[in-house]
Amino acid sequence: MYPWNESLFEQLKTSRERLPHGLLFAGPNGLGKMDVALEFARVELCANKTACRACQPCQLFEAGSLPDLHLFAAEVYADNLSGLAEKFSLRHMPERKKDRKLRPTLTIDQIRNAIEVLAKRPHIASSTVAIIAPAEAMNVNSANALLKLLEEPPADTRIILLTAAPGRLLPTILSRASSVDFRPPADSEAAAWLAGKGVRHGVHELLRLADGAPPRALKLHESGFMKVHGELVGEVAGLATGRRSAVDAAKTWAKLGPKAVLEGLVRVIDDWLRALHTANLPAGGQMSQLQGCEQGLSLKDIHAVRAHLARSASTWDSALDASLVLEDAFLAIGALSGGKAR
Ligand SMILES: [Zn+2]
Repeated sequence: MYPWNESLFEQLKTSRERLPHGLLFAGPNGLGKMDVALEFARVELCANKTACRACQPCQLFEAGSLPDLHLFAAEVYADNLSGLAEKFSLRHMPERKKDRKLRPTLTIDQIRNAIEVLAKRPHIASSTVAIIAPAEAMNVNSANALLKLLEEPPADTRIILLTAAPGRLLPTILSRASSVDFRPPADSEAAAWLAGKGVRHGVHELLRLADGAPPRALKLHESGFMKVHGELVGEVAGLATGRRSAVDAAKTWAKLGPKAVLEGLVRVIDDWLRALHTANLPAGGQMSQLQGCEQGLSLKDIHAVRAHLARSASTWDSALDASLVLEDAFLAIGALSGGKAR
């Protein structure tokens, strides 16, 4: 478990018996909400209520085969799971034909399935735990079905909802589940953790792009963030001059989460605007790829594109279709070249 979640986990453990059936783990993705949910479930399902690692439920838990823990995840979300979370999620994953795209939503069938398993008596442990993630991936029908469950939870059950966007949940769900807030660690703690992973440069920038979640900052670093920045400058230059197609650009960037791409683009355009306003585009270096690209463009249009991208970045969440969001962003930049004589 990540160090910044340890005290929160201890609090959960000590207040376990007083907590309501429904819990809502809320906070940015990448902070380790799933780890805490699993550790909490481990305590709850342990015969000794200590996560002893020795009793039968604990041993089955460790093997990823305890039948009293159920994890319902949207396919897109599950695609990023690993270890025990991945193992448990597979049991309730809808069947998928090879060419079908991963669903960003939690289906009504998945929620009905959750209701069904929670209605049965536990098999081995003394209770049943269901983890549902991400809660914002439920549509209104799924949410209403779940609401009934939260209103009248069967005895000896625990429902843990995970969300990075509590504002998108039905107010009735919010009022029925007890919220547990996950917050990013202080910059100094995050920096120390990243330093332990060998990341010492650009830490502040990486954390900003990762919503303060150090594991995501690490991922960005490992993905070669500075290289990425240079490549995004190249994309903006290509799109703004009509040399590059938005669809191709979106395909190229699909693998790095949309939020990181959108924020990376905002950063590039900010730097570009700053350079244009001061008529000072640094020669050499990554930004020089934008030399002359402003010909025939209005600053007002570039500002409008910047605002559009920033809005997309701030409203992005994992329930949206990543490729559409990226295409929309690159189209907006590409539209700058629309006014040019071709
Ligand atoms: Zn145990």
